[in-house]
This record gives sequence, C-alpha cells and structure tokens, in this order.
Amino acid sequence: VSAFAVRIAEWQERSGRHDLPWQNTSDAYAIWVSEIMLQQTQVTSVLRYFPRFMQRFPDVISLARAVDDDVLASWSGLGYYSRARNLKRAAELVTERHGGRVPEPVDDLMALPGIGRSTAAAIRVFAFGSRDAILDGNVKRVLARSFAIEGWPGTPAVERRLWALARELLPDGPLAGYTQGLMDLGATLCTRTRPRCGDCPVAGECRAFASASVDRIPGPRPRQQTPRRRAVFLIARDPLGRVLLERRPPSGIWGGLWSLPEFGSAEAALAACRARFRVETRAPGEGRPLQHAFTHFKLEMVPLAVRVSPSPGGHAAEPGELWVAAAALDEAPLPAPVRALLAREEG
Ligand code: SF4
Repeated sequence: VSAFAVRIAEWQERSGRHDLPWQNTSDAYAIWVSEIMLQQTQVTSVLRYFPRFMQRFPDVISLARAVDDDVLASWSGLGYYSRARNLKRAAELVTERHGGRVPEPVDDLMALPGIGRSTAAAIRVFAFGSRDAILDGNVKRVLARSFAIEGWPGTPAVERRLWALARELLPDGPLAGYTQGLMDLGATLCTRTRPRCGDCPVAGECRAFASASVDRIPGPRPRQQTPRRRAVFLIARDPLGRVLLERRPPSGIWGGLWSLPEFGSAEAALAACRARFRVETRAPGEGRPLQHAFTHFKLEMVPLAVRVSPSPGGHAAEPGELWVAAAALDEAPLPAPVRALLAREEG
C-alpha cells in the first residue's frame, strides 16, 4: 500500500504538472475556484478560463458582491452553469459566515453549495496542508483498477470501499504531491478508455492490469429498468371511413393533442365502443403493437381497429371528440407515434 503512494508521489514529482496557475499557492479561494472548474472540465479548458475569472473576481468578497450575470458571463463556455451559481452563492455564505475567509473545517466547507466531500478534501490538502483523502471520478477509476474493486463506483458499497482505501493509502508526511499525482494519473494515463498502462508508475502492482481486466473496471453504471406500460388505442372507423379522435387532457403525455381513444385493455375499448355504436367488425382483435420510448417509461401501443355504424342513440361526437376523414388525418395535430400507428393500420 505504501509503495503505491510512494510511486505516485515520485511520478508526480518527475512527470506530473507543477506549473498550473492554481498550484504553488495556498490561496484557498484560488484553489477552490480551480477545483470547481476542474469538476467537469479538462485542465486544458480550465487553463483558458481560470486566469480570466480570477482577474475579474480576485477574492471571495469580490465574487460575493458581483452581479449574477457577470459571474455567468465569466463562466460562459465552461458549461455546467450550476457550478457558477453555486460558487457565487457559496462566496456570499463565506462572506456572511466567515468574514470572507475560506474556512478550513471540513463541515464548514461541505456546508457550502457545490462542495462535496472530495472537493472539500482537495481544498484542505492544497490550501491548509490537511490530512485528507480525495476521491473524485478520476481517482475512483485509478483506485478501482489498481486494487481490482469491481462494480460501479456510484454504488454505495463500492464507494465506501473506495473511500476506505483512499484513506488507508495516505502516505505519511505532506500530501500535496501524492494528491496531485493521483489526480494527474487519472486525468492523463489511467483514462476511461485506452489507458496508457505502459507509462504508468503503478503498473507493476495494478491488479486490473495484471488480470487484463482494465476494460471491465470500474464497472459501468447499472442500466435502469425503464417501467413499461401497455395501452390499447381504439381505431374506430365509421361507414364514411372517418376515424374517431379525442383530445388528450392538457397535462400528461401528449397534453392537449388529438389522439386515438386510449384504454387499459381491448375489452374496455370494445365495451366503450358498444355502449355508443354498433360494432360491425365480427371478431375485433388487437393488431401488432408499436413500441414507443418516453424518457421515463416505455409504452406498448396496441391498435384495435373496428368498423362502427351509428346505433339508435346516434354517434355524434361528444365534447372533445372529432370524426376525421382519412385524407385529413395528415393535417391533424397527432402525436408522431399515434400517427405511425394509424399509418401502419392504413397500410
Ligand atoms: S496500470 Fe493501467 S489501469 Fe492500472 S492504474 Fe496504471 S494506467 Fe490505470
């Protein structure tokens, strides 16, 4: 374990980055800003934005007093703007609670928006020389591979193991070089795809490398099971070939659009149909379903085509209903999957 830390620190000393504008300083504010920028952005991009941002907002108080739009404008191009909003809000809180000085206690740092456990640790190590372990996305990958910790690092059990390991690995003495080395290794050599194991200082003891499982570790995010729903869409045609449409409720999927009447089952659809019309189709049956994926669920759309004619009660459209000639269906504001279902039945 200690050999691992020594190799990383030596490699950082030899081949790591030493002249980034947020290195060689103990300005906690500058280190904090850089850590936030680096959260979802590569070093090369951060290098373009960091100096400009620091020039515009050189300390906590200037950021706290800034106009939101100016902060966002300085962030423009870095993306993930919630980071800028959180940084600004956090600067206000640091001004209110700590007189504009970035606090050292981990709880005070983590009470600020945008600062999680790993970011708080990085600020503490680099600005205050504290003894903390970091575990950002890159470091998770390096540790998971080096010690063959399988599974997706976002899983609580895997994450707990990685945190425990990150703490165990901390070498004695100053941590800045080792911490920077871990970050650099994850960002430059132990990349997600095609890591450069041949150049890696810990390749000799890396378990994933030894067992040729670098591609499998860390494990991928488990695929979410998307809920499925099944609905029967009634395609009722009258003797003129017109199709019955109804307007969807204003909220929910396809809110306010015209659609085919929707039912939970073919039986329910036929019962509703028979209550109002004479059903001419002898043995109405479900057609071939069409699958449609929404963001949160998958819908199996089952067509049920029936010929209907007026029953003694008449078949005038009720409020929110419309009989539409086949030729006019193209113009009707129908959701695309409903249009596809109709086109398929026509075909
Ligand atoms: S040997 Fe390869 S997989 Fe293992 S830590 Fe180094 S770069 Fe990552």
